Amino acid sequence: MPLLELAHLQKSYGPVKALEDLSLEVPEGCLYGLLGPNGAGKTTTLRILATLLAPDQGTVQVAGIDALQDPRSVRCLMGYVAQEVAIDKILTGRELLQLQGDLYHLRPSNRDKRMQELIALLGMQDWIDRRCGTYSGGMRRRLDLASGLLHRPRLLVLDEPTVGLDIESRGAIWQVLRELVQEGTSVLLSSHYLEEVEALADRMAIIDAGRVIAEGTPDELKQRLGGDRVTLRVREFSDQHEAERLQRLLQPVEGVLQIVVNRAQGYSLNLVVEGDHVLQRLRQQLDQAGLPVFALAQSRPSLDDVYLQATGRTLMDAELAVAGQRDTKQERKQSMR
Ligand code: ATP
Repeated sequence: MPLLELAHLQKSYGPVKALEDLSLEVPEGCLYGLLGPNGAGKTTTLRILATLLAPDQGTVQVAGIDALQDPRSVRCLMGYVAQEVAIDKILTGRELLQLQGDLYHLRPSNRDKRMQELIALLGMQDWIDRRCGTYSGGMRRRLDLASGLLHRPRLLVLDEPTVGLDIESRGAIWQVLRELVQEGTSVLLSSHYLEEVEALADRMAIIDAGRVIAEGTPDELKQRLGGDRVTLRVREFSDQHEAERLQRLLQPVEGVLQIVVNRAQGYSLNLVVEGDHVLQRLRQQLDQAGLPVFALAQSRPSLDDVYLQATGRTLMDAELAVAGQRDTKQERKQSMR
């Protein structure tokens, strides 16, 4: 039986459909990554799982317990660390953990023992007695993690645990997560960092527009694509018609298995290729057609290629589109003032 089973979740916020039909199974004992761009529905999924939000449709089972019928039992099994946690700035980190332990009804002796373990695990010795108001982003995230782990949850759920952190703090949190999984805690984390999911996840799902669009181990997902990737940009190549003309020109080149037109950022072509000297042949074909190559790069398949294959845009383009929507909204608001 999987530790966690989400089936056919749907959730709308007024007219905004955050989850279309999301199903997911997370096995026990692994670190499971949910990868998706901003607005894909990751936080909504995790909040439903953490029993903070009710879905419109669908079911949630944690260790065989129906989370919608028996949220209390599910909360005992789970530690949830939200994206933004409100921390009382006046308290010290130690006082905050003590308070958290009391909320979990831990006995003071158990609570203090567990706190010592977590302070050591997360490297918080030097600053745990300072007021939280003086903490850096990385320190705050470590304190959040400690709070989520105080009651020794079977499943730790983390919403973008390293967003905005410097490389060193991110690395320290990755190390702690790996140790937790080795000791038997299951971890479900959401992220929009490809490299984070690639580095940490035993299994993963890619979420887009409220649905799971790919699921498996990171290697499986990449292997399913087969072949190397070639990204191709050509000067003066700016509309779909041009892109499709080029697609027809390059499709017959020996070694080209597939061509996906990448619609974002002025159209580029993403090719799946196999065999030697394919780049050379592509270059020749483009030269003969009189098309100057702007960029041509070959690489092994990445998780971004998996995303591109499923959605027709890269994860970064999806993020830029969301950022663009936000900017446009912002501009609209300003022009209305
Ligand atoms: P991010 O990485 O930016 O946190 P996400 O993948 O976690 O994104 P969600 O926060 O679940 O995505 O949001 C999914 C969609 O639902 C988005 O379109 C978002 O704007 C919308 N949404 C989320 N919360 C609310 C809310 N309280 N009211 C209205 N719309 C919301």
